[in-house]
Amino acid sequence: MSNFNNLLAEANLIDGRWTGADNGRTIDVTNPATGEVIGTIPNCGSDETDRAIAAAQSAFESWSRSDLSLRVRLLHDLHDALMDNQEPLAQLLTAEQGKPIFEARGEIAIGAAYIRWFAEEIRRAKGEIVPAPTADRRLLVTHHPIGVVGAITPWNFPSSMLARKLGPALAAGCTVVAKPATATPYSGLVWGKLAQDVGFPDGVVNIVTGSSSAIGGSIMASPEVRKVTFTGSTEVGKTLIRQSADTVKKLSMELGGNAPFIVFDDADLDAAVEGAMIAKFRNMGQTCVCTNRFYVQAGIHDAFVAKLKDAVAALVVGNGAEDSVQQGPLIDGGAVAKVEEMIADAVANGGSVIQGGKRHSNGGTYFQPTVVTGASADMQVATEEIFGPLAAVFKFDNEDEAIAAANATEFGLAAYAYTRDLGRTFRLNERLEYGLIGINSGLITTVEAPFGGMKESGMGKEGGSQGLDDYLETKYMCVAGL
Ligand code: NAP
Repeated sequence: MSNFNNLLAEANLIDGRWTGADNGRTIDVTNPATGEVIGTIPNCGSDETDRAIAAAQSAFESWSRSDLSLRVRLLHDLHDALMDNQEPLAQLLTAEQGKPIFEARGEIAIGAAYIRWFAEEIRRAKGEIVPAPTADRRLLVTHHPIGVVGAITPWNFPSSMLARKLGPALAAGCTVVAKPATATPYSGLVWGKLAQDVGFPDGVVNIVTGSSSAIGGSIMASPEVRKVTFTGSTEVGKTLIRQSADTVKKLSMELGGNAPFIVFDDADLDAAVEGAMIAKFRNMGQTCVCTNRFYVQAGIHDAFVAKLKDAVAALVVGNGAEDSVQQGPLIDGGAVAKVEEMIADAVANGGSVIQGGKRHSNGGTYFQPTVVTGASADMQVATEEIFGPLAAVFKFDNEDEAIAAANATEFGLAAYAYTRDLGRTFRLNERLEYGLIGINSGLITTVEAPFGGMKESGMGKEGGSQGLDDYLETKYMCVAGL
């Protein structure tokens, strides 16, 4: 289980050099499955971040004008470096984050796929020659790298969330200052190591760890950072949006969710339960697109609940490093306390715990995968992101009621529905206020499609042909007097 030792970067990457914090301070990183310390990372602040920004600004001069073919080749090499190290990288990811090893392998693979996607997509980032109103003019619309990019990522997908930012930024010719989450920094830092190994020039990728407010503060205050891409909570996202005003930065915000999962009477029951398990329990319920609220139509409700209960009871809980495990520990004690609080609130408001409901006998931050029925709109589970292995089931009677309930939240990231009615599928597409909609599937993220939320779940898209837009500035040039 220490296969990843040569990928464990316990320093920060600034201008091509691996360094510690100026004051020598470090932060311990622990394995949530065992409580053991994996290693340390530098506890950096604004001075180190300012240097990383200066390095990125300096590197931008040449990187932004580098040959497209060079950038494409380096990105393909980065993809290959990821996949050549898929197994140790997955082990490292599981060690710091807790997710089952098969999920970690999948995260490394999709991260690599994003890098390859953007290596391909940048070759199609075409401009336009627009018909001019007069014969003596030519109107050109051209795309240019936006500049230094600040990238701040969360702990739940510490590898692939950075891939979705590094891929388009590097392809476009931008340079990057990245700040991984403190709980799971190594899966982020290793991107710096691999980028260096395959030959990205010094200063193109910089990675800083430590105080989020100091590092974030420097990134947000810097006039040289032209774009910030953030994945994390809505609360922190709003702070960054406010801080961006003084330097008018372009922003991408991938924020929290409160996904509804609607099961209609005409659904394929087995498929719905299978999709429910993926959409709810992947990463122990700690994904932004995880189902928060199951809405199940009255005619199928009891059958769905019975099958869901059995499937949840069969989940194998343990250290994610073991191949048979399907549910690892939660990220920390706060996450456990939040799930407990939400279960207590649901029970106090008339809900019933029909499966799980307690801390797991493994101790630590393990929690029993849980199903609560009889959920209602006045419970916390209806309005707050659960981010844990708790499935809350609401009952509904008709389509209008389900859509209204699904939309009754300030969030708008992912929504799922199971139905065999084609007309209803299109009504859902038009009426659900969500950026991602899965019909008859609980797992829809793919590099080819734009990922991003509506309402307070954020702005901007990652992946798809749209995923490059945020890293490119569009210029219009008029050539007159011809
Ligand atoms: P978080 O607390 O918002 O942290 C995200 C990142 O922001 C971390 O690197 C964190 O650093 C940093 N940060 C915290 N305060 C900051 C500040 N004042 N200035 C600058 N950076 C700051 O979120 P999380 O708990 O890691 O992740 C879970 C959340 O992310 C959930 O709400 C989930 O829905 C959301 N998420 C959204 C998507 C999406 O694509 N929409 C994907 C995954 C996750 P530290 O780690 O040092 O605190």
